[in-house]
This record gives sequence, C-alpha cells and structure tokens, in this order.
Amino acid sequence: MTADRVDPGPSERAAVAALADEFLKSLREWITIPSISTDPAHHGDVAASARWLADALRADGWPEVAVWDHGPALPAVYACWPADDPAAPTVLVYGHHDVQPVDPPEAWEHPPFAGVVVGEELFGRGASDDKGQVAMQMLGVRAHLAATGARAPAVTLKFFVEGEEESGSPHLADLLDRHAADLACDLVVFTDTPLHARDAPTVNTGQRGVLGAEVTFTGGASDVHSGRVGGGVPNPATALARLVAALHDDDGRVRLPGFYADVAEPTAAERADYAALPFDEADWLAANAGGARAVAGEAGWSTLERVWVRPTAEVNGISGGYTGPGLKTIVPREASVKLSFRLVPNQVPAAVADGLREFVAAHTPDGITARVALRGDGTPPYAVDVAHPAAVAVHVAVSEAFGQRARYSRTGGSGPAAVLHATLGVPVVYLGATLPDDRIHAPNERVVLPLLLRGAEAAARLWRSLPERLS
Ligand SMILES: [Zn+2]
Repeated sequence: MTADRVDPGPSERAAVAALADEFLKSLREWITIPSISTDPAHHGDVAASARWLADALRADGWPEVAVWDHGPALPAVYACWPADDPAAPTVLVYGHHDVQPVDPPEAWEHPPFAGVVVGEELFGRGASDDKGQVAMQMLGVRAHLAATGARAPAVTLKFFVEGEEESGSPHLADLLDRHAADLACDLVVFTDTPLHARDAPTVNTGQRGVLGAEVTFTGGASDVHSGRVGGGVPNPATALARLVAALHDDDGRVRLPGFYADVAEPTAAERADYAALPFDEADWLAANAGGARAVAGEAGWSTLERVWVRPTAEVNGISGGYTGPGLKTIVPREASVKLSFRLVPNQVPAAVADGLREFVAAHTPDGITARVALRGDGTPPYAVDVAHPAAVAVHVAVSEAFGQRARYSRTGGSGPAAVLHATLGVPVVYLGATLPDDRIHAPNERVVLPLLLRGAEAAARLWRSLPERLS
C-alpha cells in the first residue's frame, strides 16, 4: 500500500458497532475487580478476576474454558475455540488480567476500580493495561463470527491470559511447560502494546530484551582512615567511577567487548516509518521522560530509534562508602553499581554477560576484587520479520480498521513476548490499540474507547484473513 487512505469495507466495522454497548458494560464490570498481583492482600481478587474472565468467555460461546490455578502461581485463564477446518492455523492470543497497584490513591480523579466513563474515555486501573485490550480481543472474536456468519472462527483460536504479568511473570515458563500441549500454536498474537499516537496507528514489531547486573569492587576488609592511609591504597569507589565512565564512548556507544556483534538493524522501511511518525521532542520529554530537559544517546540515531532499536547500558544506581550526614573521612572498603542493559535483536543475554565480565576484568585495578552478579538470565529481545505473512496480515488488518496505512513501531521495554517465542517456537505478532499516554502503572489510567473498537475490528479482520495468508 502506498496511499495513506485504506478502504475499510463494511462488515467487521458494523459487527463491532452493534456489540459496542455490551462490550463497554462488560469491561466496566471487570475493572471493578482489583486484581493487583503484586499485593498478597489482593490475590483473592486476582482469582476473582480469572473467574470473571472465564465466565465471560463461556458466555461468549467459547467451547473450552479453564482457569489454570497452580499455586503459588496466580490463576491464568485459558480458552480454545477450534475452527471447523482442522487444517486451519492455530493462533494463541496473549494478554494479562492482573493490574498494577494504585498508589497514591488520592491522586486519582475517579475511583480506580469504578470504571468511570467520561466522553470517549474509560478510567480505571487495567482499563488500558491490559483488561481493555483483552476485552478488545474478546470483542474481536464476536465481531469476526458476526461478520462472517460462521459458528466457529476461521482459525483455531486460543486465549492465554496471565495473572502475574505485573509481577514479572515469575511462573510463566512453568505454565508454558505444564500446558505445552494446550498452548501449541502456529502464531502468537501479543496484546499488551500501544499505538504510537491517536492519529498515527502503528503495528509494533518487537521489544527490547534486558539484562541486569551488579558490579562490586572490594578493597580491604574494612573502611580505612583517609588521612593515615588515603593516597597509599586503591579506592574502590574511584575505581568503580572509572569503570562507569568507561562504559560509553564519546558517541554514546557501549564499550563492552562484542556488544554490537550480533545487533541486527531495522529494515530501511522500518526506519522510514519511525522517521515519519509524529514526534515532538519537547512533548516527548514532558510526557515520557520525567521532565528531563534534553535528549541524549547514541550518535547517528533518532530518539525513537535510540529507545526502540538500539541497545543500551544504563547505570541504575551507585553506592559505596559513607553517604550519611556530615563527613566521614575514609577510603571505603567497597563500592557497587547496578546496571541494566537493554538488548535488541539478535543480542544474546549470556553473550552480553560475558562481555561485561571481560570489561570489568579489564577495568579492575590491582588490589581490588571485582564481583559481577547477574540478575537472573535476562530476557532476550524479540522482533518479528515484517515480511512474515502473519506480520503482513496484521499490518493490513490494522491499516483497514484505522482507515490509513499503519506504520511500524517497536517497544523499548521488555516483556513475555520473547519468552513465548522461545518456548513455543512460533512467530509473535503484536496487536494493540491503546496509547502511550494512557497513564498505565500511574494514577488516572484510562483507555480511549473508539480506539479499542478499531482494535477489535482489526482483530476480526485478522481472523478472517489469516487462513489464506498462512496457507
Ligand atoms: Zn501490560
């Protein structure tokens, strides 16, 4: 498609419109359940949310619905609706039904668990992340059936709606292992990412990975007097500061050995799309960057590229020596830095960890002992090939539903998509219709309802088109 206007055609849109009132009523009800997975006091609510979802799926006609409750994992919901054609592809839709805490509660203009509608916006915790998008997918299935007049979807559909995503999905690998047969599929549709902007529909094509580590430099067995001894022994804090300063070169490139060896750059078409997306630096800084007053990063790449498709090293925190009130004249015995690396395709967390160890060894002076502690194995990055037939199908469906050619985007954060890809061994595509300024994880979370309806329409179009695209 070169023209920006895309003719939507009639039926899926009409089907969504006919179901819109019921959809909103149902989503508002779900939002009243405070399914906060990080707070043990709300674990009963997470279970209630799973039961609510299972009941709603049954009411929609899903023939197979189960709540997977394998403590200590919080309940996940699974559903399957087989296509009439046994040769049809199988698609697994991923989302989550747990939500973030609401602190501080006094900062909410509307109660977080009331589902208040103001104009086109629905307010509440989970309205955008991720109950709104899961409900959007449910509506998409209903609209698909209504638009096609069929009793079963054109592809075998499976829903897998996790209850611990906001807690870092600690049991996801275990669930995938335990239910490998149930979750077997040809494609994952991941529903937990936003559009770029209200008037700029996008198809997300990937997420960065992440590796966390802590580097500790230790000198002697105790802090020592900075007068009697200082100047005569290595200072772990000074040595650590040198290491931190050496992490980037003057062009903002990360200096770990081999760090860029596996980096795959986005295609020219993807870069052209990023460049064409509306982007106002001042607005972006104000809305996304905590009031930072300038952009910074790797030379040769735009801000969107720096946060979507380029790998990074960030200092998350530095500690060491005396930081209390007044002065304490010491040479500290120890200093440490917490680091996180965001990774892009095709970087491998273990290889980056090797590069970090090598870098630390090269920056450890005599008389200092270095320790590198990794935070788990890290999360790999993921990106789908935009030429994959499923990626093309999503792109066409979103373009049709939103009435203009969707552009490609990525997500700088990390999530379970890479885990799903690695475990299930199938491509992951992204279908989301929320906005970056929906204030997810913050007070006054909202979702823009007309966008969710467009997203449902895109899903309905996708289910109709996939059998032919994937054949
Ligand atoms: Zn989410």
